[in-house]
Amino acid sequence: MSSPELEIQNLTVSFSTTKGKLIAVNGISFHLNPGETLALVGESGCGKTVSALSILRLLPEPPAEILSGKIIFDGQDLLSLRAKVLQDLRGHSISMIFQDPTTSLNPVLTVGEQIAETLLRHTAMNRREALQKSADLLSRVELPSPKEKLQYYPHQLSGGMRQRVMIAMALACSPRVLIADEPTTALDVLIQAQILELLRSLKKETSILIITHDLGVVAEIAQRVLVMYAGEIVESGPAKALLKNPFHPYTKGLIASIPKLGTKKRPGARLEEIPGNVPSLDQRPSGCPFHPRCSWAMEICKTQNPQLRMIEAQRQVSCHLEPGSL
Ligand code: SF4
Repeated sequence: MSSPELEIQNLTVSFSTTKGKLIAVNGISFHLNPGETLALVGESGCGKTVSALSILRLLPEPPAEILSGKIIFDGQDLLSLRAKVLQDLRGHSISMIFQDPTTSLNPVLTVGEQIAETLLRHTAMNRREALQKSADLLSRVELPSPKEKLQYYPHQLSGGMRQRVMIAMALACSPRVLIADEPTTALDVLIQAQILELLRSLKKETSILIITHDLGVVAEIAQRVLVMYAGEIVESGPAKALLKNPFHPYTKGLIASIPKLGTKKRPGARLEEIPGNVPSLDQRPSGCPFHPRCSWAMEICKTQNPQLRMIEAQRQVSCHLEPGSL
């Protein structure tokens, strides 16, 4: 088996606040295989985005602080690299697509200037070549009239078009790893389907880590899933098996809250939802952090946080229940 494209080992991230140092990501480990699409799933506030931003050291430090861990890419620990080396790597070998292209694109530069800037920064292209390549990239992400669109400012494009521009920028230098943080959340259903199709078409050229709260997106695109809760990975496994047969009550709750096409509900019936909210960083419950919301919680759950353990080939779960009890 080939070695992972990216490997996160025991990553712990905290934020300094008036209430002290609070842990947002608590010793997580995972890897991304070459050519794989891996989904990091959970509700808002579970630590998904903090984990993703930590990979490229994009969190403001302080207040953020990486307390422990290694992020191995190309045989080196990204956490030990000098800022200049890391800058060369960002957008070149590892790229990121953010949730909201409106705030991620520069409003005073044309689309062409912004894509070309990435190419001029990381390649030996001159300006004319960079603009030609930018038009090719816009065509690659199926933006109509790509040459014309180079002259547009972000506000002249629709939300779906801006997200395509972000993807074109991210792909400019053919990155080995693409991190997509909720790339379809701000888009309507039709455009969401088109962007997912586009991401699916990239599988052969790049490994993708997609961050999402939406298990519908996971079912569409991911081969493997990591479920995060309160800064920890609580379940992982191949997407099909995990969605069909979840072992962790939180995963089961997330799946139950997806609207299903073709299932009849009585009039007025509501979708199932997980009771309560994700705990804030300063109010993390003792024991299993999910216990106040869990219908299966036992006495032991209030005091002992279960370890993530292997329960069958490629499936891990952290829960005191025996697998198959749900
Ligand atoms: Fe629920 Fe207990 Fe499992 Fe936590 S450890 S998910 S509280 S059953």
